[in-house]
Amino acid sequence: MQSDPAFQGVDDPVHGTADGFAGAVGNTPLIRLRRASEATGCEILGKAEFMNPGGSVKDRAALGIIEDAERRGVLVPGRAGTVVEGTAGNTGIGLTLFANARGYRSIVVMPETQSREKIEFLRMIGADLRLGPAKPYADPGNYVHVSRRIAEEMGGEAAGVVWANQFDNLANAAAHEATTGPEIWRQTRGRVDAFTCACGTGGTLAGAARALKAASKGRVRIVLADPMGSALYSWVKTGALKAEGNSITEGIGQAARVPGNLAGAPIDDAERIPDAEALEQIYDLLIHEGLSVGGSAGINVAAAIRVARALGPGHTVATVLCDGGARYQSKLFNPEFLRGKGLPVPPWLA
Ligand code: PMP
Repeated sequence: MQSDPAFQGVDDPVHGTADGFAGAVGNTPLIRLRRASEATGCEILGKAEFMNPGGSVKDRAALGIIEDAERRGVLVPGRAGTVVEGTAGNTGIGLTLFANARGYRSIVVMPETQSREKIEFLRMIGADLRLGPAKPYADPGNYVHVSRRIAEEMGGEAAGVVWANQFDNLANAAAHEATTGPEIWRQTRGRVDAFTCACGTGGTLAGAARALKAASKGRVRIVLADPMGSALYSWVKTGALKAEGNSITEGIGQAARVPGNLAGAPIDDAERIPDAEALEQIYDLLIHEGLSVGGSAGINVAAAIRVARALGPGHTVATVLCDGGARYQSKLFNPEFLRGKGLPVPPWLA
């Protein structure tokens, strides 16, 4: 039965099924983006991370972080346990769903500036949501510090309370090194020439980059895609953290620090993408290709196009479609919001 070619690639030889949330994360399609490919003469490929069970690339990190805590014996499936995290939303969604599947509680600390859709979705799935004002990392009221203090005050790991700490917990990048990078390598049959990726924690970029560099013996070019208002572009270009401008994208960019997951990543270059350029790709993908993606995916695709143009026709550039557009309906697809930011409104929404 197993030698039947019809069943090749099916993990479970008995049922061909996947197990719950964990079994549904990853192995996402790598979609050829037709218009970007035609415009550049390259193959531009988008990893469809919006198809993960929690709707974003962060499901991979959430799975990696909780499974790491289980391996360390801090969380035990079926026994009371709590996961606490500060998040722009997507990590909180992945953590909460996987916590539900395992019988843990989840406490999610989030800046109230994040999209209404992510906030409402977190409430819907049962997260204990703590919203607060957006503060810079240097401020003790920053969501990362608030989440750490909550975990500490509840007794920390000794009490079965895990601070996910996605920025500095290396289980995050390790998940992408084990899955995202190797999947792209396999799906392109080793033909990928470049990879563009935005950074929040840097887990996706660093993990996928390490795997792609290793598989290609250093050949794959790794390019960080950065929004305005983030200091990571200047960090890659000059070694100094310097931020300019601002962006309506969520979950990406760092104004003043290099997270532990990003430090030491093999990065060759960086592109800085204004919101208008990212939105053009988001609207184009939606209206001409039927792909609904969020802001960071727009930054990633815009950067992939720039890199493809620099490499010249015939190359293959992979990137990440981090989450779906429905998560930002009230912002990226809302004429009032766009006008208020001085951004163009696409014709079918005007
Ligand atoms: N895109 C979106 C929509 C996100 O929520 C995040 C994570 N905050 C990222 C991209 C960045 O991913 P990473 O944390 O792996 O750098």
